[in-house]
This record gives sequence, C-alpha cells and structure tokens, in this order.
Amino acid sequence: MLRSIRIPTRIAIIGGGICGLTAALRLAENNFSVSLFEAAPTAGGRTRSFPDKFSGAWCDNGPHLLNGAYRATQQLLSDCGASNHICWQPSLKLPLWDRQRGHFSLSPSPRLPFSLAMLAAVHAMPEHNWRSALAMLRIHLGLQQGKTTGMSVARMMQRCNAPDALVRDMIEPICLGAMNEPTATADASSFARVLTESFKSGGSARLGWFNTPLQQALIEPVLRRVVQAGASIRCRHPVRNITTENVGVSVDGEPFDAVVIALPAYMRNRLLNLHRPCATGVITNIHLWYRDHPGLPEPFIGGIGTLGQWFFDISAQMSAQASGQNRSVRPLRHLCVVISADPQNMARNDLINQVQQELSSISGFSHSPAHVRLVREKRATVLVRQHRPASTMPGIIDASESPWPGELPATIEFAVQRGEKAAAEAVKRFK
Ligand SMILES: Cc1cc2nc3c(=O)[nH]c(=O)nc-3n(C[C@H](O)[C@H](O)[C@H](O)COP(=O)(O)OP(=O)(O)OC[C@H]3O[C@@H](n4cnc5c(N)ncnc54)[C@H](O)[C@@H]3O)c2cc1C
Repeated sequence: MLRSIRIPTRIAIIGGGICGLTAALRLAENNFSVSLFEAAPTAGGRTRSFPDKFSGAWCDNGPHLLNGAYRATQQLLSDCGASNHICWQPSLKLPLWDRQRGHFSLSPSPRLPFSLAMLAAVHAMPEHNWRSALAMLRIHLGLQQGKTTGMSVARMMQRCNAPDALVRDMIEPICLGAMNEPTATADASSFARVLTESFKSGGSARLGWFNTPLQQALIEPVLRRVVQAGASIRCRHPVRNITTENVGVSVDGEPFDAVVIALPAYMRNRLLNLHRPCATGVITNIHLWYRDHPGLPEPFIGGIGTLGQWFFDISAQMSAQASGQNRSVRPLRHLCVVISADPQNMARNDLINQVQQELSSISGFSHSPAHVRLVREKRATVLVRQHRPASTMPGIIDASESPWPGELPATIEFAVQRGEKAAAEAVKRFK
C-alpha cells in the first residue's frame, strides 16, 4: 500500500541575529525545513563578539544589559541550557555617579511593596525629597491611565510636573539606555511600556548582564540548538533578491514556501526595494584595557552630567577564563564606556580623553589604559516610529526591527519576541 509522504514546508530566514535564530529554532522544532541565510561569516548580528588581539580576550560589539521583564529571552536561554549565562542583581539597584554627589543609587527595598519601595528609594537619593517621590506617584498613575499617545517622554514628564532633578537622575538615563533616544524625542507610550513591564512585578524588577561574551553566552547555545533541531545555516550568503512566485517565494533563485525577514527595517527596505525613511540611533562604545585598574565599585554605573552614560566593569561581569583571556599572563582589566544616542560631535581622541577622565573620577584611578578600542555602531537600533509595514507580498513574514509607538523599543527581548511571533505566524499558515 502506498503511503503519502509529507514534504516538509520550506522556510527561508534572512538574518542570523538573535531574531532570525529564534525563528529558526521554533520552526525547526515544528518540523519545518529551515534554511537561515546570514551575510556575515558567523551568526550573531548586533549581539556578536570578536577576539581582541591586544588583550587576547573576546570583546562584545557592545555590553548588553537585560531586565527581569525579558521573559521571552529568559525562556529561550532556558530552552538552550544557557540560563546560567545571565547574572541577575538580587533586587533592583541603579548605581549612579555625578561630580557633586559622588556615588549613590536608586535602590528600592525588596521588603516593601514595589510601588512604595520606589517612592521611598527616590526620596532617599541625594538632592531628592518628597517632591520627587510625589512626582513618581504621578508618573505611576499617568502610566496606568495610559494617556501617552503621540507624546514625547519630555512632554509626559512636564504633564506629571516631574522636577528637573528626577528627570536628570532617573528618567533621562533609563530613557537613553532603553530607547536609545533622549527624552525630548523618545515616544512616551513605548517608554511607558518599558517602565510598566520592567516594574510590573517587584520581584522581577532587576537588571542583569551576561557573564561571558555574547557569542558564548547567547549566540552559540542558541545556534547549537538550531542545528540540533535540523535547520541549515548558510553564513557568508547575503541575500540579494526575493521574488514571489505563483506558489511560494524565491530567495536568490531558490524556491521556498515562505520567507521570514529578520533584519533591521532599513536593511529590509533595501532588500525589498522599498524607498522609505528609517530613523536609527547611534551607540558608541569605548573599550579600555588597564594593567592595574582596581575596577569599579559596581559592575556598571550610570553617569549623570557626563559624556559617557554607562560605565561597565566588563572584567567584574565576566571571569578571565570565561572571556577567553590567556591566564598565564596577568589579565588586563577591561572597562567599557557607552554613549547611547551619541550626537557624534566630538573628534575621536577628544572623546576618548574625556571618557577616560570621567572614568578616573568615578574609580579614583588615574593611570592611562594599555589599550583602547572605539566601536561605533552608526545604526545600532531602529527608533520607535510609525514605520509603514513592509509589504503584503504573499509568502513574506516580516519580523524586521521596526518598533511602533506602544511597542517595546529595539532590544534583545523585542528581537526574540519578533522571532517567536514570526514562527507562530508560519505555524498558523502552514500547519
Ligand atoms: C552597541 C549596542 C548595544 C546594545 N545594547 C543593548 C542592551 O543593552 N540591551 C538590549 O536588550 N539590547 C541592546 N541592543 C540592541 C540589540 O542588540 C538588538 O536589538 C538585537 O540584537 C537585534 O537583533 P536582530 O536579530 O533583530 O538583528 P541583527 O542582530 O542586526 O541581525 C540581523 C542579521 O542579518 C544579517 N543580514 C543583513 N542583511 C542580510 C542579507 N541581505 N542577507 C543575509 N543576512 C543579512 C546581518 O549580518 C545580521 O547578522 C544593543 C545594540 C547595539 C548595537
């Protein structure tokens, strides 16, 4: 008796960043025949790492912070046996520094109900008082009422009558870090989403960082599972042409039933010949390696009134062995200064000198670094805007990074969620 043989549905995924890898894993787990195309020699995209010749260590494209609301990312890491690659704070603490006040932090007590703990924590910061605490309450209530549509974060803060000190010390650093835009232009409804999701449940309101370089912490475990699940990975293959056929889609002449586009929106537009503007934000990372640096008092510190916005002690976040450093030589201390939404108005050497001086003031250590590396991602993130949808071309599933007002901004979590959503869409269409 002849039995019908079911040919698996063929799906192409364009882009081997964390979004494309997530989609590939979920589709391969659902018995689709998956081919993932990646232009670069290795998968990873913006969460890639590279070996630094001078220090002998792996270096991330940029240090990545996570928060407890990154549930899809945590699930993905858990499915790939890599949950232990994130180091979580025991409870939320935002370490800060400025020239006048020195080191201080926003540290809500884990023993109080979270909203109350936030008010008390804001009140306890130097130069803050009940005015800041009451403004926090108004912001909290404003977020719950959801009246943020079409507004900038700065406008929302004016409406909540937030004191300048609260905006400077808390709102602006969180906005720059999460949205990669200053409060003047960042969309209030997406910022509200960041705050409510991050602080929804007091217990999960905390920050985390990867304790090995991104390539080993995130990309390799996910890639391993994708390959185990049966997907084929084709690196060094920049896709140049997608056309829809009578049935299905052709990717550089190869037939597929559907294609998932897992690219930032401006790359998607280029690939599909869509002539549209796409607002993006710059992130500049200045990596510094020191011979005898004692390190920072915290794994990361937010600078107030400084050019550098976040000061990361990468060596404290990662062990020397995990970061691939040669242990027979005395390990260098790796620090990294991050400038989100960099206006790019300073010459390279002036910028390096200034952040180095800021780092000296923060750490109390004034020696020169043994090695400096500046990595500027000109299109680090696609900003929250009313992006027009890509296309209604049948067979194309658009998982591109094009965050809308009210959605999460471009982050690892948003990328994982987009990959999950694209896979669910394909399952719905073909199963
Ligand atoms: C410096 C920096 C710091 C950041 N900090 C944080 C942070 O602290 N926390 C956080 O959550 N997020 C952070 N992000 C954002 C986060 O890294 C990204 O949002 C996320 O990695 C996007 O993943 P993706 O898969 O959507 O896109 P990408 O990682 O950009 O992947 C797209 C892939 O597609 C490939 N590609 C492009 N064109 C083609 C083509 N034609 N054919 C085949 N392949 C192609 C590219 O080579 C790339 O590998 C940061 C980003 C940067 C750059």
